Order: sequence, then C-alpha cells, then structure tokens
Amino acid sequence: MVRILLKGNVKAHITDWFKSFQSLKNIGQTDGVSKKLTSPNSTEILLPRLQHKNSQSQKIEGIIPRHSPIITYSQPQYQPKPTVNAYLPDITRSIKNLENGLLDVFNNNRQWANAVRLQDAKFFETLAKGQEPKLFWIGCSDSRVPAEIITKLGFGEIFVHRNIANQFKEDDTNCLSELEFAVYNLKVEHIIVCGHTKCGGIQNAYNDLALRENLKIWLSDIRKIKDSYPELFPDQFTESKMSKSEIDFIHKKLVSVNVINQVNKISENIIVKEAWKDEKRRLAVHGWIFNMENGHLEDLYVTRNK
Ligand SMILES: [Zn+2]
Repeated sequence: MVRILLKGNVKAHITDWFKSFQSLKNIGQTDGVSKKLTSPNSTEILLPRLQHKNSQSQKIEGIIPRHSPIITYSQPQYQPKPTVNAYLPDITRSIKNLENGLLDVFNNNRQWANAVRLQDAKFFETLAKGQEPKLFWIGCSDSRVPAEIITKLGFGEIFVHRNIANQFKEDDTNCLSELEFAVYNLKVEHIIVCGHTKCGGIQNAYNDLALRENLKIWLSDIRKIKDSYPELFPDQFTESKMSKSEIDFIHKKLVSVNVINQVNKISENIIVKEAWKDEKRRLAVHGWIFNMENGHLEDLYVTRNK
C-alpha cells in the first residue's frame, strides 16, 4: 500500500480526478493478482494502482503491483516560498526575428557573449572549470519548455536530458548513460521528471494520430496506459462531445500519469537503487508538470528518495 498526501494546486485536479473515477478501485486487481501493463518489449510499466479513499482528508491510498517492492512516497523536500519577487525575462526574441536565417543565431550568440563579459569578465573562465549541478532534469523536447529558463537556473546548475514526452526507457542508452553520469559522476541530489500541459507527444499518443514508425514506438507506453484506463481516458467519439476545457483536463491527467510512471521506473532502476544503498546519499526522484497556461511548475508530490 502506498499513501500519497496531496497538497497545493495538485490536490484539486488529482483529487477531483479520483473522485470522478471510483471505478479505479478494482483496476488491475483480477483474482487477487495485479494486472501488468507491458510495453511491446515486455518492459514493465510501474504504474501505481491508486484508489480514492477519503476525499475529506484529501488522502489517496493505492495498491501497487505485486511484482513491485513496497514504495514509500515521502513528503516533498521542496516547499514553495510564500512570496516570489517578479522577474522580467527577455521574451522578445522569436524565430520570426531571424530575418537573416542562421546568421542571426551567430549574431545573437556574439551579442550574448559580449554582454556576459561586460557583466562578469571572468564568467567564461569560471565556466570552463567544470560543472557541479545538483539537479538532473528529464523533460520534454518541446521548444516551449526550456528547463533552464522556466527554472531560472544558470550555467552549471542543471544537467538536462530531453526527449519527446519526457520518457525514461530501460533500453535507451542515451538516457541511461546520462542517468549514470548524473548519479555517479555529478552526484546530483535531485532527479526531476517534468511533463507539461499541451504536450504534443501526449496528444499524439492519446489520439493515435497517423504517426510514423519511430514516433509510434516511442509513444507506445503512453498509448498503453491510455488504453488500459478507459474510465479515465475516453475514446475519440466520447471526446468529440466534450468541451475544450474537459479535453484539456483529461490530457493533463495523462500527462500526470505519464510523469508518475517515469518516476517509478527511474526509482526502480539499478543505477538509482545502487546509489540508495549508501544511507548518506542524498538523492530524490521527483515528478513535476510545467503548466503552459500560467508558466507555473506544479509538484505532483510523488517524490521518492529510497
Ligand atoms: Zn511535450
């Protein structure tokens, strides 16, 4: 059994979600044996079996698959500050400004480098010495979700991996090697899986659009989750009768479940489990969402640190 305590913005949408779907209670519990979701390569999808118990206390309890060890969801390390000062980022640039094509990219770069030097003459000298980021970010490749900008983190502060729909796959040596490097070489303290609203990868997986071969394979785990929970994710016919806000709401649920799935897979990976054998090691895996409608990061409160 796992217990997730929901707080803040997440409380409303997840709690309402589960309230609406009491039928989740028995999903995956056939004849006392948890149902396994499997990818085409028979890779397990470690999706927690959640069920709504008590809406008043805003607690959600769930049953995890029996093939998975007991999972303890810890309280989040991160606590939002009560007040946050305004910051004015430079959002004036866009691809439309590239009147001279890629030459503008180089000009932008030189302008930026010169401006940095004016601000700090030794900036690049310091930069060349190395990196010590505490955060490893696994996000979507979407050009609207640049990790460094939305977190307002600087050079050397965040190690980044991005792919379509922020997937973690056990056979993806690209992401695995980065995880290895982040955990054992950089010794990061936080691994963050960050999905986002209006995610094209999620929308494509949801609607099963005519995707080419590689993209279809890449998004297949999301599609399987969607197909496994028809109570949560209605078919296209039902969806066609829904309002735009209802569709957005449902898509955000799939974004959330997808993030939780990646958090669980990373937490079950040998790279992370080995690191957790060291009791002194600080390493937590978090699930977040970037809300494109207001620019806010939302913590799903599924942090795992053992
Ligand atoms: Zn995306």
